[in-house]
Amino acid sequence: VIVILFGPPGSGKGTQSQALAEKHGFFKLSTGDLIRKEIAEKTPLGLEVQSIVEAGEFPDSALVNQIAEKAIVDNITKSGIVLDGYPRTMEQVNFLDKILSGLGKKIDVAICLGVDENELVRRIEGRRVCADCKTNYHVEFNPPANDGICDVCQGSNLVQRKDDTRDVLEQRLAIYNKETKPLLDYYDQKGVLTTISGMESPQEVAAMVEKILANVELDAKSTGINA
Ligand SMILES: [Zn+2]
Repeated sequence: VIVILFGPPGSGKGTQSQALAEKHGFFKLSTGDLIRKEIAEKTPLGLEVQSIVEAGEFPDSALVNQIAEKAIVDNITKSGIVLDGYPRTMEQVNFLDKILSGLGKKIDVAICLGVDENELVRRIEGRRVCADCKTNYHVEFNPPANDGICDVCQGSNLVQRKDDTRDVLEQRLAIYNKETKPLLDYYDQKGVLTTISGMESPQEVAAMVEKILANVELDAKSTGINA
């Protein structure tokens, strides 16, 4: 099964793709993670990306495609692949379609987590991180046992990251909406897009995702197409 997860920053998309990877043994394809791994392992691709990043630039789409292709080919025999943060452009969508069809596969389902802006602000502005040991907290959803004190290192430097503000969120949302809209339209036209509410708890959202996957597998069985 090949699944794409879409959702704005703070929608819980990363949590859901991690859950799918753990529960079903899917390979989680996040190009950000893959790039960091290539750099850490000093592969030829990693060294190339590193020089780009160190020059203050972003890896171009061709390079991101190359990284995604390698990961897909390497993991195609797994029970599934969940794509998180890739594809981001129509050019990447077309590239992905080509790789998958070459492997006799296709995108089985695209799931979009819808979360309204006020809820995203609430989630993001409540995040805290321990400046000493980097443990993450949330003032509302995951507070430390003692107010302002890190559970792990007992330090008292629980701070807000400077990116975790309404202003930064609004900028990211504008980019997300602009770049993602054509992709959602594309997968909608293909008949594989399902939009669900990401407003519920991670457990409730995970249950909805499971239901969608179960239907995809049923469909695949009834049409005889190998998903
Ligand atoms: Zn700490």
